[in-house]
Amino acid sequence: MKALLPRIEIALSQIRHNARMLSELYGQKGISLMGVSKATLGDPAIAEAMIQGGVKFIADSRLENIEKMKNAGILTQFVLLRTALSQAESVIKTVDISLNTELETVKELSHYANVHHKTHQIIIMVELGDLREGILPCELSQFVKKTLDLSNIKIIGIGCNLACYGGIKPDNQNMHQLSELANAIEKEFHISLKVISGGNSANYEWYESAQKVGRINNLRLGESILLGCETVNRKVIPDLHTSAFQLIAEVIESKEKPSLPFGEISQNAFGNVPTFLDRGIRQRVIIALGRQDVLVSGLRPNNDLEILGSSSDHIVLDSKNYDLKVGSEVKFKLDYGGLLSAMTSPFIKKQFIGNSHTAV
Ligand SMILES: *Cc1c(COP(=O)(O)O)cnc(C)c1O
Repeated sequence: MKALLPRIEIALSQIRHNARMLSELYGQKGISLMGVSKATLGDPAIAEAMIQGGVKFIADSRLENIEKMKNAGILTQFVLLRTALSQAESVIKTVDISLNTELETVKELSHYANVHHKTHQIIIMVELGDLREGILPCELSQFVKKTLDLSNIKIIGIGCNLACYGGIKPDNQNMHQLSELANAIEKEFHISLKVISGGNSANYEWYESAQKVGRINNLRLGESILLGCETVNRKVIPDLHTSAFQLIAEVIESKEKPSLPFGEISQNAFGNVPTFLDRGIRQRVIIALGRQDVLVSGLRPNNDLEILGSSSDHIVLDSKNYDLKVGSEVKFKLDYGGLLSAMTSPFIKKQFIGNSHTAV
């Protein structure tokens, strides 16, 4: 059989395991999970594994990904994480729940919800310091008031997103603030908010240390489920798998060469003048994988390999004096950026491994 190269091997059973462990862990304090599928380009089999593991919603930032999962027959509540004014009609047609921060956009959603005789549910995102999306807390009440006047729109909750842009950690203080905002809105407008979505994979440390989680009853998790870590310190979460995704590429050259280039040094292919350390003659390996395929800094080689550099179509590695044969395969673990780029690459084939693959 001809091997698919380069390829990303995906162990669905490990993703299912991670989703199950996290659903049980967060479930202990009443927190439900949205499985975030955007890093996998909305892969239906991966979404299904998350659902089997116990997530209650599938959330994605892109309508195309959600459409793909729906067309593949995935049955769940889908949540759109990023809502654009120009897409309002497609949002109404494709999903029942979206995250929102702009009144103009919610008005447009209301308009198309009327046109299509639907009720659209929104979660209002509040700014708690990270400075990505969110309404300032002092403007939340006005926003809710105006939204309640719009027909066919139902506010089902509020949420926040931290540690994405500004690197602000979820902690007792900002989580308490979100709880208090939920209480205040319910009291002022006599409505009940059923989803208080406290954040993402960065919320693990807060959760572990918190005595009480207050009103927080939902988290949106991508990286923790897919790669098994939290995202404040990138620590592995106990008992989770960290290599559900592995990238495999082919060795196309393997030779002993000096570690210092010879000749006159000028710019390389990317406009930098590189510098090198003389480590004598080393066993060097080139693989058929490059910057056009993947974010090279997102690859995590094992201890037998070191990435020396890359160009569009080649990655040069030091193989620690081990003679890897031409035509042999090398394997990498991936960080989130590596995963995102590998899953998005048209050159990297996807292969599900293990005997527990459930077709969807
Ligand atoms: C991507 C995203 C998430 C998931 O983040 P992870 O760090 O992968 O858990 C959660 N919420 C929003 C709004 C997102 O855009």
